Amino acid sequence: TMEFADRVTRVEPSATVAVSNLASQLEADGVDVVDLSVGEPDFDTPQAVVDAGKAAIDDGHTGYAPSKGVPELREAIADSLGERGLPYTDDQIIVTPGGKQGLFETFQALVDEGDEVVLLDPAWVSYQAMVKLAGGTLKRVDLTPHEFQLEPALDELGEAITDDTALVVVNSPNNPTGAVYSETALEAVRDLAVDHDATVLSDEIYDRITYDADAISLGSLDGMGDRTVTLNGFSKAYSMTGWRLGYIAGPDEFVDEASKIQSHSVTCATNFVQHAGVAALEECDDFVAEMRDAFADRRELVVDLFAEEGVDVPIGDGAFYAMVPVADDDQEWCETAIEQAHVAMVPGGAFGAGGYARMSYAASEERLREGVERLADADLL
Ligand code: PLP
Repeated sequence: TMEFADRVTRVEPSATVAVSNLASQLEADGVDVVDLSVGEPDFDTPQAVVDAGKAAIDDGHTGYAPSKGVPELREAIADSLGERGLPYTDDQIIVTPGGKQGLFETFQALVDEGDEVVLLDPAWVSYQAMVKLAGGTLKRVDLTPHEFQLEPALDELGEAITDDTALVVVNSPNNPTGAVYSETALEAVRDLAVDHDATVLSDEIYDRITYDADAISLGSLDGMGDRTVTLNGFSKAYSMTGWRLGYIAGPDEFVDEASKIQSHSVTCATNFVQHAGVAALEECDDFVAEMRDAFADRRELVVDLFAEEGVDVPIGDGAFYAMVPVADDDQEWCETAIEQAHVAMVPGGAFGAGGYARMSYAASEERLREGVERLADADLL
């Protein structure tokens, strides 16, 4: 028999898989499932991106690319980060096959066996898995009692960040809550990071999808430039999930170390996909605005639909997720929802927020109405 390494056996299989397996099984049986579980926009990739990708294949961009990314794309990314107040140079950027790989490289580069990593709960499922793979230990600050906002939880954050903290992970706009953290809150993170000489990972993958508040980049705050790693990507803003394209940006020393992991693992992001990425950054502002407006309407619709059923959904100012308060046993609630109402949502427990289920409102208004109606008919609300 094979003997597996501790680093992999200490990671749990994703709790979301149970629900998505049930959903696929039902769909295979011909059942019409309202799938509100997936974290991807329901828009096609913009035509300009598709065209640029095809042209790049025709032009022969099919070999290895430079490990850190093709120069044109790194330039375009540096410009885009600059517009957000992040003064990274082209050389301080690593283009990765999906933001997820960038996160993985970041945890591998910064977290040693036994190092403490501070997470704000609810947190996206993969952070804890990546911390555990790196051998780190988690310190979790629960924002659930504070309506998922960071500002009211700063005392707890102050207790969690100590001289033993290697890394603090901040994700605003947030998956799964949609929360956008205030400037005051982010300045407090900055002060704590500086006081305790901690590095901060700022996952800004939803930064272009905001409604009533703008997302602030942590790395743009005074004193944060040399202690922040910024993660972003193309999956969400440009509806490019399957293209696998993202990037990390950080100080020179960080990029030197993290790029070793990139070059010894995936080598580079797909060459022609990177050329398509240039078109996304340079030609697709209108697309982003249109998609955002559609999400804004759906966000209001979701709040109204649940309110009509007597459920108060604490909606965030960004991303396209809502945390719906459900039963104490959210895993069981989600299984019932899929089996009886044929509505797929993700148990909040997977994100460290038991009692909630995450719904993605990146679905048509018709499907959103249908989904809530089915949940109500099955007495789940
Ligand atoms: N960060 C967050 C918070 C996410 O929700 C996701 C995707 O679900 C990612 C990063 C990574 O996305 P990708 O690997 O598609 O760039």
